[in-house]
Amino acid sequence: MARTRITLVVQNTIRLTDHLIRVRLGGPGFTSFQPNDSTDAYVKLVFPGPDGETVRTYTVREVDLAAQEIAIDFVYHGDEGVAGPWAAAAEPGDTIELMGPGGGYAPRADADWHLFAGDESALPAIAAACAVLPADAVGQVFLEVAGPGDELFFAYPEGVALTWIHRGDAAPGEALAAAVRSAPWLDGTVQVFIHGEARAVMHDLRPYIRKERGVPAAWASSISGYWRLGRTEEGFRRWKSELAEAEKAAPAGV
Ligand SMILES: Cc1cc2nc3c(=O)[nH]c(=O)nc-3n(C[C@H](O)[C@H](O)[C@H](O)COP(=O)(O)OP(=O)(O)OC[C@H]3O[C@@H](n4cnc5c(N)ncnc54)[C@H](O)[C@@H]3O)c2cc1C
Repeated sequence: MARTRITLVVQNTIRLTDHLIRVRLGGPGFTSFQPNDSTDAYVKLVFPGPDGETVRTYTVREVDLAAQEIAIDFVYHGDEGVAGPWAAAAEPGDTIELMGPGGGYAPRADADWHLFAGDESALPAIAAACAVLPADAVGQVFLEVAGPGDELFFAYPEGVALTWIHRGDAAPGEALAAAVRSAPWLDGTVQVFIHGEARAVMHDLRPYIRKERGVPAAWASSISGYWRLGRTEEGFRRWKSELAEAEKAAPAGV
């Protein structure tokens, strides 16, 4: 991922759902932004602070070459944190530095079907992937959101079934994992994309996909946490390296 920093300017913000805020970023710095072909393209946003810089990772939901803008959809998860509150307060003319984009996933044309699962943080990447699926694509999408006010329209082919799951008071990812586990498993080669709260994804859904369903790594390379309950992104990065160390010591076979 390009480490060169570019500065973009907030063009406008819009409240998409109860907890999702779209921020459109553009300005002269856009000419230095080099889009890639990943539907999960992400950037590292840099927030200055009194104790140094804080970096947060966000999906590029859309690149609008005509308007010279990118759109980022931020989950507003309360007053805690840096990026969520920044998006809630952002106004046209505000600036932000970012690095990237990086990315690693795009739907494969040779998959028989696609399985997408995630929460609000993965909704932008899942919607971006659905937008490029061919018209005859087959798939299942499971999206766990806080409640009915968090459902968001996005386009997907007729052969794709979308299921909204309302979290209510349950722990993040719990209802999502249950829904994916109880869904019918289709025939043929599946390509899997699952992201959201890290514990649910890494300790429940990943073993289900890799071990119980036997999906090989090549078709299930995009399964990981996007955030971890009770941890800032810095704390989440430590959690990920601890998990990687533990798996190296005792390979889980996933
Ligand atoms: C590749 C990638 C792409 C991502 N794309 C997006 C995206 O498009 N949109 C998006 O909103 N997020 C996305 N995320 C997740 C985002 O980076 C994290 O949610 C990040 O922690 C938010 O930073 P913050 O400063 O708001 O909160 P932090 O300071 O990191 O955390 C503060 C507190 O808020 C909690 N928290 C963090 N995120 C959430 C959440 N989503 N729901 C509930 N509680 C939370 C933490 O557990 C912590 O207790 C992505 C992550 C990755 C790795």
